[in-house]
Amino acid sequence: MRTYAEWQSMTTTLSIESRAFIAGQYVTAQSEMTFPVRNPATGKVLTQVVACGPAEVDAAVDCAKAQFDHGSWAGLPARERKHILLAWAALIREHADELALLEALDTGKPISHAMGIDINNTAYCVQWFAEAIDKIHGEVPDIAANLHAVISHEPMGVVAAIVPWNFPLMMASWKFAPALAAGNSVILKPSEKSPLTAIKVAALAKQAGIPDGVFNVLPGDGVVGQLLAQHQDVDCVTFTGSTTVGRQIAKEAAASNLKRVWLELGGKSANIVMADADLSAAAEGVAAGIFFNQGEMCSAGSRVLIQRAVYEEFVVLLTAAAKAWQPADPLDPSTLMGAIIDQAQFDKVMSYIELGKKEAELIFGGEAVSGEQGWFIPPTLFVSAPDTRIAQEEIFGPVCTLVVFDDEEEALRIANSSIYGLGAGVWTQNISVAHRMSRKLRAGSVWVNCYEESGDQNLPFGGYKQSGNGRDKSLHSLEKYMEIKTVLMKV
Ligand code: NAD
Repeated sequence: MRTYAEWQSMTTTLSIESRAFIAGQYVTAQSEMTFPVRNPATGKVLTQVVACGPAEVDAAVDCAKAQFDHGSWAGLPARERKHILLAWAALIREHADELALLEALDTGKPISHAMGIDINNTAYCVQWFAEAIDKIHGEVPDIAANLHAVISHEPMGVVAAIVPWNFPLMMASWKFAPALAAGNSVILKPSEKSPLTAIKVAALAKQAGIPDGVFNVLPGDGVVGQLLAQHQDVDCVTFTGSTTVGRQIAKEAAASNLKRVWLELGGKSANIVMADADLSAAAEGVAAGIFFNQGEMCSAGSRVLIQRAVYEEFVVLLTAAAKAWQPADPLDPSTLMGAIIDQAQFDKVMSYIELGKKEAELIFGGEAVSGEQGWFIPPTLFVSAPDTRIAQEEIFGPVCTLVVFDDEEEALRIANSSIYGLGAGVWTQNISVAHRMSRKLRAGSVWVNCYEESGDQNLPFGGYKQSGNGRDKSLHSLEKYMEIKTVLMKV
């Protein structure tokens, strides 16, 4: 890992590609429009990025479909797609410093996390699906002596992946890696707030041998996503982002060609501390569960439920743990918390903090860091009733709402009283409590005595209720990008 000075010096020589990637070429928009991308830690414009529009969407879909129909990728044996994807993963590792720096500059996240988590997990994800894809086979069920049935998987066609800004490349890889491994053509629509690594990785895809037109990147705002969701030749939209936009995409798909829609949406995850927990470990885990990635995390443990008997003791420990997460320069490798993505998100988080001061009790933090340019908010703790807006709505910032409960039943009732169901945590030393609660929590992931601990690709990730449908990661995610065909023959 480079030093602080080395990362700073690397920014002066970093070349930033800011064009769309269509049919294997970097291109500008027909409209010649661009939009600025800023460094959240300084507020300064990093570059002007090509703003795609209807012409680029049509061009990307046309070439993606043509390549799919031609079979240049979909028609390759799985082991050949594997070799190309493995080469891509290796190139991502080779360019990890450059990609991590782009991610840190573009999102304001700490460079150590950009490197160790975002880029490392992106390469791992591409590698994992590459290694998996030539080990998955169809089925031949034994149905009758005069019949022969083959059940096989086929790629769907053109998959549009629309992704958010908080883990730009990693979250994108959770979609493009399984979709490409399965043989689809992919159009990646990164967030307008953080498109740079998606643009860069496209060149590496080409270098690895992915045929032109099979992997395309369309930077631009929500209209680009909307056009993809409406498109008659897009066969599947796989989306990570807000519940509001997810709902719109589902409507667009219904109104167009009933394309498959997979949604990974928002959350307000409960992290429950039982009185018998190892309170020091719980305090560290709870702080990391909400303050990691500036709290800009769908699965952030933003509602912390604490059993009354240990409330006073736990708040002292949690406040001490929270102090370690003070925001600082993302390029300093010792920084744990960086900057908030942009002015709009900063304003949103600060407005929730002001609301919290009215409807709940502020325990710690709460004042934006003044001084330098850029958008920095310190770790902030409130204690609240379970039904306030700060206890129910997704804030997507370093703001944690504590709620007190008396017994297991009440903890479960409060935890499950949410429109979301993405993640949940339980801290206890009683194995029966751990089992009972993990069965009853209505969430896609339950972490016991840890929180978001493992980036392992074997673990599916996704939500119950309005946190979405389908799962990213793991072999289950391949199901989202493959049709199942039954062929029945009389013999
Ligand atoms: P967002 O919904 O505003 O934007 C996500 C993407 O959708 C962006 O690329 C955006 O340009 C595009 N978009 C906007 N309007 C669109 C439209 N009408 N049609 C199609 N696409 C459109 O979300 P965001 O602010 O980028 O990200 C934060 C949200 O993402 C939070 O709610 C967070 O919980 C969620 N998220 C969920 C997960 C998960 O795995 N469940 C992971 C990360 C983030």
